Amino acid sequence: MSEISFINPLSNEGKEIIRAYGDLNQLNKEDESLIEEVTRTPNQKISDDTIIPKSYKDFALKRIQWAIEKKNNKNYVQNEYEYLINDELYKYDVVTFHVLCQAIAIQFNLGSRETRLFIESQATLIHERLAKLTPSLREELIDEILDEIKVDGTIKWMSLKDVISSKKLKLSDLLIENGNIILQQDEFLDNYESEFIDRSPERMYNILVGDSVKELILSRLIMQKTEEYLERIKNMSTRVEIHPTILELSEELKEFIPTEISKYNQYYEGSGGIYGSVQAGKLNPDAFPPCIQNTVNGVSSGGRNDAIVLLLTSFASYARLYPMIFASDETIKVSDLDPDLTITENEILPLIFDAADNCTPPLFEDQPQEKINIISKLGFGMHEKVDINHEGETKWYTPMSCEKIKLHLPQLCKPDKSCKGINNPLSCYGRKKFQLDKKAKD
Ligand code: SF4
Repeated sequence: MSEISFINPLSNEGKEIIRAYGDLNQLNKEDESLIEEVTRTPNQKISDDTIIPKSYKDFALKRIQWAIEKKNNKNYVQNEYEYLINDELYKYDVVTFHVLCQAIAIQFNLGSRETRLFIESQATLIHERLAKLTPSLREELIDEILDEIKVDGTIKWMSLKDVISSKKLKLSDLLIENGNIILQQDEFLDNYESEFIDRSPERMYNILVGDSVKELILSRLIMQKTEEYLERIKNMSTRVEIHPTILELSEELKEFIPTEISKYNQYYEGSGGIYGSVQAGKLNPDAFPPCIQNTVNGVSSGGRNDAIVLLLTSFASYARLYPMIFASDETIKVSDLDPDLTITENEILPLIFDAADNCTPPLFEDQPQEKINIISKLGFGMHEKVDINHEGETKWYTPMSCEKIKLHLPQLCKPDKSCKGINNPLSCYGRKKFQLDKKAKD
């Protein structure tokens, strides 16, 4: 049977493993047993030595790399990461989880893309690890873990309100009694057995509660506990001294995560861009003015919708397709520059949608209709997708001026020297991109 801590590293068993681990100075050291166990993992690809983690720190970075690849890489290869579902490695996994929690909490904000990537990856691992078990073992393990997570023997439905509001779980999927979610068969029978005269109450339990709901609740609760744990570490980090090895890992993650993610951003140009000053070309994020960089990194509630729908949608589309808009009197449509809409679909919209996802809370989770507003600001009417047949139903919205941004989204305008003398983020981008391109050519 798989260990509880392999699914819930925050369990009592997980805490015991951490207590026993002790010396954080060992994180960087090559670990023969780890290498041996990873190599022995069934179906693990071992032909390329760089795939195998050699130390705890290596294991931590690989785990983050796996999360990024799994989410973004269309050619993701599962057997390069098979060891992540090898339960023989549960002690390594638990230590790695806690080490990552510390490194992430001190480096990134709670709502950041990096923190969310880590928390969500834990849920993905839970599902993948449980899927490897037989149905009866899976059920037994889920019940055991849920029993330990319960506060005062119950799970309040309110503790899942974020999951319910994000529509990942419907309130109608849950059986609720006095605010508590009924999950276990004995609770179900205690409460409802007498209600079933012609049908088997046990069968009705399986139909109404079912393992998939339990598994979903389990993973959501662990995600929530992980978030609370990260918050506690963050608060404590101002009062206690952080171990140098954790600080080192945390600094490494600051570079590592964006670098790994950028491999899959199809909307940015590679280094040393080939395009001229204000001609259309792949977007160069290094040339984004501060307000756009702040938007791309994620905006919290307040101006979130306007930042994505009004500011970024117009900026990204004009910066990519028609940066000369303010120097021209022509009336232009997206399809004049992108006739089959491939740039719009493969570069512009992914950038906007990723930025929407980086917001706190992610924009489309609570306001999916904003997708339609984005399409409409590109000139394709109030529809879910860009479609040439709808072009012209609305106007292609031109980029906001600095004045408007300062007025409506002041939290995003943090001018730097690149903003000097300009009145629109698009002009700032054009100038900065020209300078960067020139520098790359010299
Ligand atoms: S001055 Fe203009 S371009 Fe610069 S950050 Fe503010 S709004 Fe953006």
